[in-house]
Amino acid sequence: MSRFIFITGGVVSSLGKGLASAALGALLQARGYKVRLRKLDPYLNVDPGTMSPFQHGEVYVTDDGAETDLDLGHYERFTGVPARRTDSVSTGQIYMDVLTRERRGEYLGATIQVIPHVTDAIKAFILGDVTDEDFVLCEIGGTVGDIESLPFLEAIRQLGNELGRERTLFVHLTLVPYIKSAGELKTKPTQHSVKELQSVGIQPDILLCRADMDIPADQRRKIGLFCNIRHEAVIAALDVPSIYDVPLSYHAEGFDDEVCRHFGLLGDPDELDLSVWQSISRTVAQPEGTVKIAIVGKYTSLLDSYKSLAEALTHGGIANAVKVELDWIDSEIFENEDAIHHLEGVHGILVPGGFGERGAEGKIEAVTFAREHQVPYFGICFGMQMAVIEAARNLSGIKGAGSTEFGPCEEPVVGLLTEWMRGNVREERGADTDLGGTMRLGAYDCDLQENSRVREIYGTAQISERHRHRYEVNNTYQPRLEAAGLRFSGLSPDKNLPEIVEIPSHPWFVGVQFHPELKSKPFDPHPLFTSFIAAAVDQSRLV
Ligand code: GLN
Repeated sequence: MSRFIFITGGVVSSLGKGLASAALGALLQARGYKVRLRKLDPYLNVDPGTMSPFQHGEVYVTDDGAETDLDLGHYERFTGVPARRTDSVSTGQIYMDVLTRERRGEYLGATIQVIPHVTDAIKAFILGDVTDEDFVLCEIGGTVGDIESLPFLEAIRQLGNELGRERTLFVHLTLVPYIKSAGELKTKPTQHSVKELQSVGIQPDILLCRADMDIPADQRRKIGLFCNIRHEAVIAALDVPSIYDVPLSYHAEGFDDEVCRHFGLLGDPDELDLSVWQSISRTVAQPEGTVKIAIVGKYTSLLDSYKSLAEALTHGGIANAVKVELDWIDSEIFENEDAIHHLEGVHGILVPGGFGERGAEGKIEAVTFAREHQVPYFGICFGMQMAVIEAARNLSGIKGAGSTEFGPCEEPVVGLLTEWMRGNVREERGADTDLGGTMRLGAYDCDLQENSRVREIYGTAQISERHRHRYEVNNTYQPRLEAAGLRFSGLSPDKNLPEIVEIPSHPWFVGVQFHPELKSKPFDPHPLFTSFIAAAVDQSRLV
């Protein structure tokens, strides 16, 4: 029977609950357990798909096509367990579900209330779609004390009673700040946050205390005393140089031991295998060189917008034993003359996914620079579409080439995707379809052409990658583009949708319609990122 671990956060947001949950998942796996991780978000949006990346960060897409919170990316990167649609829920989704059922008359005349109807729907989500997992880790978004998260806290409180202590554990992540003028660590915010949690009936079993220095034993005892917790269960979550050091640091502080102790599972410590994390930590700490990659995008002011991308580049660095330095550049600057010199000296240029016209011409300028100067170029989704427009204009002489995403256009080299196949089901969309959840989303197969660079990189003829896009390269332009040197090296199995383009005569020029960054892991770097960073290493020897 699965056990449920609930992770809440207090004091301030951004303490890294997602990372804490992911790292605990990895530690439980290292003890041989099967885990699953889930996120419950208190906002009213049905999913984060329509939220601005500036506010909410990246939208993480699962194989089964759900648009979810970026924390699901951490979960996958640390555990390798593919996230599913059933691993992410928001208040908006819960209410939509409850209200749809109310309209159908499924509540038989009852007055619909937060308790029990909304809390029942939350509990059904937590308990649903669980099979043989030993542990299901559920992270509650937001900070304890927020109005929005109350129904979630009530639901997990009820589950604590219903399943019992043998099957539930409450972990609370707080902050123990160092106050310079007093010269000491302060425990009061943690005490207050735990009181807040206790006031809704939840007694945390373990406190994970973020601190930038070791928390002395007497301070732990004090926290334990005031928060009604054994002092051994007050764990320091110390700042570490790399996020991939977190599992080792938590283990050194006894986090996983405490979790196992709670469930009566303290087995033979020899069974614990942390060698994967030790080796990643070592490689990250002692790189053999550095490469500099320019990321030319739009959401560069909030780096969380490109979370998986930044991690995938780090993974490419791990595979090549180098440090990858990222230079985030707002593409709009290239729309002014002379700005292109910002790209001189970088070892690779990457244009990531994006939406809308603003900054698009600047991205196209960056593609021209990479193509003409033989700098490794990696275009992802929007970055692939811009590469195709660039080639159409400057290699094939199609001057009016553009994307209908920016309005009507003379030569729609990139156009609205109105129908495609999902397995044997036809999906159809129009210009006036709802925006939420209607893109081409999730895993689709792609066939790789013989003797292409990508076929060599992947070492296989068919791949499956995750998508999130509404527009697509128009394959009627394929003959003219290929004649000019842009090869269509990956196509959908029905051959209708161009998935990958490359320039064979360039040292490394690849554009992909999908998001390979979503599937990269530190212990299993994505082949495209490994190969792109290898090309950047070669480039670094030239410049
Ligand atoms: N805006 C483009 C589209 O919808 C690209 C999307 C993306 O980069 N994820 O097709």
